[in-house]
Amino acid sequence: MPFWASTNRWLQTISATRFAQAPLLRPASHLLGTNSTRHSYASTPSDGPNQTGGGFGIVFDVDGVLLKGSTVVPSAGPAIRKLLALQVPFVVLTNGGGMLESARSELLSRKLDAEFKPSQIIQSHTPMRQLVEEHAEDNVLLVGKRYENLKAVAASYGFKKVTTVEDMHIHHPRLYPDIKPGSDEVPQGFPQEPVKAVLIMNDPTFWGREVQVCIDVLRCNGSGDLGHQTVPAGTQHVKLYNSCSDLEYSTELPVPRLGAGAFKEALSTLFLKTTGHPLQQVEFGKPEVASYKFAEMTLCQNVGEEGALPERFYMVGDNPKTDIRGARASGSHWTSVMTRTGMFVEGENDGEHPADMVVNDVGEAVDWILAQEGL
Ligand SMILES: [Mg+2]
Repeated sequence: MPFWASTNRWLQTISATRFAQAPLLRPASHLLGTNSTRHSYASTPSDGPNQTGGGFGIVFDVDGVLLKGSTVVPSAGPAIRKLLALQVPFVVLTNGGGMLESARSELLSRKLDAEFKPSQIIQSHTPMRQLVEEHAEDNVLLVGKRYENLKAVAASYGFKKVTTVEDMHIHHPRLYPDIKPGSDEVPQGFPQEPVKAVLIMNDPTFWGREVQVCIDVLRCNGSGDLGHQTVPAGTQHVKLYNSCSDLEYSTELPVPRLGAGAFKEALSTLFLKTTGHPLQQVEFGKPEVASYKFAEMTLCQNVGEEGALPERFYMVGDNPKTDIRGARASGSHWTSVMTRTGMFVEGENDGEHPADMVVNDVGEAVDWILAQEGL
């Protein structure tokens, strides 16, 4: 069985096993019946708010929902403070990354003037912490930007032996002659053993170099002289885990910016062009269902002893292709709410990935959810 298939199954098993501690999920049957004047696209009849009993939890995207670039969406702080006062469990599920979960929780807490705990932060690469069970002792290559941050993130997850593309470039300057490595000194502890797994944690600054080195590592078994040894056609022995998801994202600019997913597209295309074989990889981040399962598990773990374990989940996002698509694919116990403060701006709803509810901003989203739950 190819590694990506077995790992996907393994991830599903992990999620299912850990989530089994929570009560069995029941289908949400509360999607309609709102007093809101906005259009709902749910198709199931309502039996009123909170008829199924049990608890609920809310999952927020960040860019285009809580923030636009570095600017705070005005209703975001009050909405989060309202949830804190009501003790409604919530987490953040962002396709961003590149920093410790604790650093992002501090950043959001400061910007929104509302407390976010590190355990409430799910970044694109946060589920990679589960890979430690397989790769804790392996030489793992990190790919992305601001490598010192990525090393800290990997160490916090429990990876004991990591290297980076920058370290590899220092060790093998000829790998990418167009730019000079950032240092002449080979970093201490540079692993000499083969790379067993590549973790792409966010989009790198030097796309060209990182694409080149990734392809080198993947087609030389991660061992020997990089750039010389090629595995037999059609094989890929080094595992690749990729948490670059969003093709585009929203900022203060009127048109979207290329996101980390653009790097994934570039690497996938160039691997196919140069080897003749499709890139094999395990993908993390929205809209992958595994990320929503991880969010369910995290929400359940964040509920206090007296709180009801969530059985119904709301995704508040701005991007129909990621936030809404993933929520729709994750089961009828998920309800998707799309804001107009990010990627989706015009029209009643997205034609391809319609949300259950479309609202102007995160403040309206929270009010609508609370009304659905009878609060
Ligand atoms: Mg977004």
